[in-house]
Amino acid sequence: MKAEIIAVGTELLLGQIVNTNAQYLSQKLASLGIDVYFQTVVGDNPGRLRQAIEIGRSRADLLVFTGGLGPTQDDLTKDVLADYLNLGLRLHEPSMAKIEQLFASRGLHMVESNRRQAMSIEGAEPLENTTGLAVGNGLTADGTLYLLLPGPPKEMKPMMDGAGENWLRSNLVDEQPLYSRILKFAGIGESNLEATLLDLIDGQVDPTLAPYAKEGEVAIRVSTKAGSEAEASVKIDAAVAMIKERAGDYLYAERDVPIEEEIIRLLRASRRKLASAESISGGLLAELITNVPGSSGEFLGGVVTYTNHMKHRLLSVPMSQLEGEGAPGAISESTAALMAERVRELAGADFGISLTGVAGPAESEGKPVGLVYFGLAERGKPTVVHTMNLSGGRTMIRIRAVKAALYRLWL
Ligand code: ATP
Ligand code: MG
Repeated sequence: MKAEIIAVGTELLLGQIVNTNAQYLSQKLASLGIDVYFQTVVGDNPGRLRQAIEIGRSRADLLVFTGGLGPTQDDLTKDVLADYLNLGLRLHEPSMAKIEQLFASRGLHMVESNRRQAMSIEGAEPLENTTGLAVGNGLTADGTLYLLLPGPPKEMKPMMDGAGENWLRSNLVDEQPLYSRILKFAGIGESNLEATLLDLIDGQVDPTLAPYAKEGEVAIRVSTKAGSEAEASVKIDAAVAMIKERAGDYLYAERDVPIEEEIIRLLRASRRKLASAESISGGLLAELITNVPGSSGEFLGGVVTYTNHMKHRLLSVPMSQLEGEGAPGAISESTAALMAERVRELAGADFGISLTGVAGPAESEGKPVGLVYFGLAERGKPTVVHTMNLSGGRTMIRIRAVKAALYRLWL
């Protein structure tokens, strides 16, 4: 099964909005074992939309549309496809009833154009829109599958994951599902990980290994189209064992979770508490950790001590440590250690962690961009400081510093 995603909307062509729907749909289709061969973007123009349909059906078995199901004159995906296939449009009564009800409940007058959202192509299965008004469509015509989804992501995603997926599954009876497992790594860059596993990645056909990086973490997707789940599991286990032999030290989870979630889970299991003192990362570490639901049980709090003055006032790091002739400076192993120790004591936590370094673009204290110290103070143990030399722009260095710190903590 070859698929093509056709995103409809002039705003996309003008660069006013980003085509995030295509990304979502590509990932979704891949997880269903459907290969996406093309992504197309076309404006709200009937002639060019027709062209896109014609090209699409010449090279794919499934066309997934997003956008243009709304009430206005420029929303014409259903009209153009129906016209192209010489099919009519039918009113879908339940959708119409829902629209009428909504307008009535708000005391608003329903304009005629709202009927358009309840139209369904003749012979198509209407797909329920649980978060909006425009009904979707799943249609098989001349051996091609057409799936029509709304444009707004908050409508498109639930429809795709609900009625859309169901419709697809029941029309893909002889497709083999794709089984996959995500391995998450931290403390190693994507290129390093790839280099370590290069022969496996290149040589491996079943299961396949696909590395990808996102926001300071690296993941590998191990996928197979084996006949059964049990068979797939055996194949995936074997591949994972090979990967672990090479890069097991950096593997922190065998599912798609961010490392901060793993940290909170571990802290919870060992009933220990964490506090942070951040300089270079400006609170990013606290932000990531507090994004994890329920983290208040494990994360006591953090301080952002950006200037020397604040490091001194809030954390009692001596000024003589931070400034002046021969002082180690704010960006130093000893300052990282002091920050971690002081915030641990201040909060009464089991772990105090700190980050201080140079995010760039210019060097600081004569120290190079990317130099970062991570301080880790644990109750009853000597404080450890890890030195990191990170690459990337300012934003990337900050994200990498935080992720690397979390990885060290996880270890
Ligand atoms: P509506 O009922 O809101 O008119 P629609 O199905 O007609 O929905 P469009 O008019 O094409 O969809 O797009 C509506 C909005 O949905 C856009 O303004 C944009 O915010 C969002 N949107 C549309 N297409 C995409 C896309 N490919 N990726 C991300 N967002 C999109
Ligand atoms: Mg619209």
